[in-house]
Amino acid sequence: MAQRGVAILGSTGSIGESALAVLRRQRDHFTVVALTGGRNAERLSAQVAEWKPAFAGLAEGNGREGFPVGPEVLVEAATRSDVDIVLNAVVGAAGLDATLAALRAGKRVALANKESLVMAGELVAEAAREGGGEVVPVDSEHSAVLQCVGAQGRELARLIITASGGPFRTWDPARVAEATVDQALHHPTWKMGSKITVDSATMANKALEVIEAHFLFGLPYDRLDVVVHPQSIVHAFAEFWDGSVIAQVGFPTMELPILYALTHPTRLPDQGIRRYDPVAAGSLTFEPVRSDVFRAFHLGVEAGRAGGTAPAVFNAANEEAVAAFLAGGLRFGRISEVIDAVLSQHVPGPARDVETVRAADRWARVEARSLLGIPC
Ligand code: NAD
Ligand code: MG
Repeated sequence: MAQRGVAILGSTGSIGESALAVLRRQRDHFTVVALTGGRNAERLSAQVAEWKPAFAGLAEGNGREGFPVGPEVLVEAATRSDVDIVLNAVVGAAGLDATLAALRAGKRVALANKESLVMAGELVAEAAREGGGEVVPVDSEHSAVLQCVGAQGRELARLIITASGGPFRTWDPARVAEATVDQALHHPTWKMGSKITVDSATMANKALEVIEAHFLFGLPYDRLDVVVHPQSIVHAFAEFWDGSVIAQVGFPTMELPILYALTHPTRLPDQGIRRYDPVAAGSLTFEPVRSDVFRAFHLGVEAGRAGGTAPAVFNAANEEAVAAFLAGGLRFGRISEVIDAVLSQHVPGPARDVETVRAADRWARVEARSLLGIPC
């Protein structure tokens, strides 16, 4: 494989740092040509010192850090001519424009930023068609599906993606409603950024992933199932026309799906990834999603089924509610209530263009903030 240029958007975050750990072992095959962070100048400076990329910028910087600043740095990094692969590891709606721009510029987008696909799945597909780019998922469940399906995409009958169930899997609903920020951030199997960790505790994350799977693999919602699997060893099951099921397994690590998103459809040797051991993995158990606790999950899947602008509204209401929860201003149980209230005010329309999606996103944030008593 010739050496390929990689841009990492959100390099200072959890996925960004895992990606750099992978790339440190794969220097013969990839070169880091662009890095962007949010506002963590110190972390970005350390990465720049190690990797010496041709471009580095801070999307939320104040200009005093010595880097180009502003949201435009994402698109600038993503569309450079020396970039072949854009790893989009930005959290939230802020990642959308760079996903679209990279695809229009013909890049492979290794997509961790699932919010892009949830907000604008059809527009993402259109941008890829127009520009010749491609989306390869980084999310572990979707990477698992891709690895199971191989060349048999047409013969896929159903997907079952797994969920750990998060820290509140066995709690009673009244206790979950009062959960603290520390409790919500204490994920049993994955170490991740704070927004996705809260999304895993509400299981809004799994709704985002069902919508993501709908757009990536083209299946209707009644053929996308979720099962709770507390050990996080089986990442997904793919069922084919004849009833045969293939699963992908492994100890939980994001390094493997990140590496696969860079190398798909081929593979590279990598000794840094813990080898699977079925005896060490022990018993694997599966249970249904509890609807009494994980209301945000059901609301999100319903928004997916409604389609058009509804998923963007779900995503924006969730982002606002999670930010308020993390800031200490909201009970855990209110997150799903806020999402529900915003969605029930929304009349979904077609997600015609990015302006329409952005308008739905803005509207949902204003609604959510007014419910939360936060000035807009
Ligand atoms: P994180 O919070 O650790 O990192 C987010 C990165 O985005 C940081 O570099 C941050 O500086 C940057 N950022 C934040 N706000 C920004 C903005 N407005 N503009 C530009 N950059 C901004 O989050 P993470 O856990 O690495 O997750 C990143 C994405 O990957 C999310 O979409 C998440 O759902 C997805 N994902 C993460 C994991 C995981 O294990 N962490 C697994 C699957 C999917
Ligand atoms: Mg996932």
